[in-house]
Amino acid sequence: MDEPKGGPRQGAVEVATTLATVATWLREANRVLALTGAGISTESGIPDFRGPDGAWTRNPAAQRLSHIDAYLADPALRAQVWQQRMAHPAWSAGPNSGHRALVALERKGALHTLVTQNIDGLHAAAGTSADILIEIHGTMREVACLSCGDRAPAAASFARVLAGDPDPSCLICGGILKSATISFGQPLLHEDLVKAETAAATCDVCLAIGTSLTVYPAAALPRLASEVGARLVIINAEATPMDALADVVLRAPIGEVLPRIVEQV
Ligand code: NAD
Repeated sequence: MDEPKGGPRQGAVEVATTLATVATWLREANRVLALTGAGISTESGIPDFRGPDGAWTRNPAAQRLSHIDAYLADPALRAQVWQQRMAHPAWSAGPNSGHRALVALERKGALHTLVTQNIDGLHAAAGTSADILIEIHGTMREVACLSCGDRAPAAASFARVLAGDPDPSCLICGGILKSATISFGQPLLHEDLVKAETAAATCDVCLAIGTSLTVYPAAALPRLASEVGARLVIINAEATPMDALADVVLRAPIGEVLPRIVEQV
C-alpha cells in the first residue's frame, strides 16, 4: 500500500489511521457516491484493460474490438466480438470482498449511489440494490439491437452463434445486435448520466475505486464531486490523473483495504 497523496511512505499504524479517517468521513457523510471500474473485478479473475495484466496492456490491438464504428463496419470483427463475449471470464466469476464491502456499506445506510463502469454484473450479483446502482457502461448480460433498440438476454444470441450464425441479427427488425454495453464512440444513456452527475454534484464523499479515471464522461464524476467540496478518496493500485485532487489516495489492493474501511463505518 502506498501513502496518502504527498505524504511519506506509511507504516502499518499510519495506514490504519488513514483507513479509520476515511471510515469516519463515510459515517458522518449525508451522501456517499462510489465510482467503480474494472479494478474492483480483477480479484474475481476478470482482467482490467489498463492495469499491468490488463487486456489492452497485453494486446493493444484488442482496443479496436471496443469501438462502435469498427463493430458497425465489419461483420468479421462482430463475429470475433461474439466469440470473445461468450468466452468472457465474467460468466464464471463471482463477486469478491470489494463488491461485498460496498453491499455492507449500503446496508449501513452509508452509500447513496454506486456508479460502475463495469459491465460484468458483479455488483448486482453481490447484492447491491438496483435503485442505487447505475451501470453506466451497460451490461454484457443482455444484447441490444442497434436499429430498433430491442433488448434480450445474451444467452439467446449465444445459442444462435453456437448453432452456426457467426453474427446474429435482430429477430424483430434484422438490425445489428450487440452486447448491451456502451462501446467507445457510443453515447451513454442520458438518464444514467444525469443521475450519476446529480449524485456527484450532491455527494459529500466520493470513493473512486479500481478505475484509471481515463474514460470519460465517467472519469469526470470525481472531479465534479471535488469541485462541490466533497472529500475524494481514490483506491487504485496505480496512479491516476486525479490523484492531485484527492484527500486520500490508497494505492493498495481493493479487497484488502475496502473491507477494512467499511467494517469501521
Ligand atoms: P482500467 O482498466 O482503465 O483501470 C483499472 C485500474 O484498476 C488500473 O489503474 C489498475 O491499476 C487498477 N486495479 C486493478 N486491480 C486492482 C486491485 N485489485 N486493487 C486496486 N487497484 C486495482 O479500468 P476502468 O477505469 O474501469 O476503464 C476501463 C473500461 O473498461 C471501463 O469502461 C469498463 O467498462 C471496461 N472494463 C470492464 C471490465 C469489467 O466489467 N469487469 C473489465 C475490463 C474493462
